[in-house]
Amino acid sequence: MRIGVLALQGDFAEHISKLSSLGIDAFEIRKLSDISNRFDGLVLPGGESTVMKKLLHDLGLFNPLKNLISDGLPVFATCAGMILLAKSLEDGEAPCFGTMDITVKRNAYGRQLGSFRCVDKFNGIPTEMPFIRAPYVKKAGKSVDVLSVHDNRIVAVRQQNQLAAAFHPELTADDTVYNTFIEMIKK
Ligand code: GLN
Repeated sequence: MRIGVLALQGDFAEHISKLSSLGIDAFEIRKLSDISNRFDGLVLPGGESTVMKKLLHDLGLFNPLKNLISDGLPVFATCAGMILLAKSLEDGEAPCFGTMDITVKRNAYGRQLGSFRCVDKFNGIPTEMPFIRAPYVKKAGKSVDVLSVHDNRIVAVRQQNQLAAAFHPELTADDTVYNTFIEMIKK
């Protein structure tokens, strides 16, 4: 199984080491030629969504990746990655890929409470959740499954081939969310 991790900015290295520790062949996607060979899944890491969005366009990666996601490539997005997938952003900012039927609020926890850790359920399983200047899902469409709610806010969702979390499983020793993604790829 080969998984490409978008490596333009943000915490892509943590995703790569996590995937490697699970025995998966993970590689960095930095330029168009990196996606010329077949791969089975895509990770969109945390970081700064506005910067990633700009670089995706500048590097010519935007359309090819959007097409792969629309064609069903399994994708796992954390935090800023979730913002990249969202069909709409609460602040009226233009969406990036817009492939997931969710409305996301960026930096939704305010400056003071911007970062915290908790344990809450992901798909029914208690899971460690570090939030870092995180977004949450304000609205999820009918075809979106809600996998986690923390403090009455939706923080993990799945829509067919797309899995997104507002928190950072790549920064924990907890493999629950990754295992869900790997199962999605195997199916
Ligand atoms: N605040 C960032 C954004 O809006 C996301 C933060 C993160 O990925 N940890 O893009």
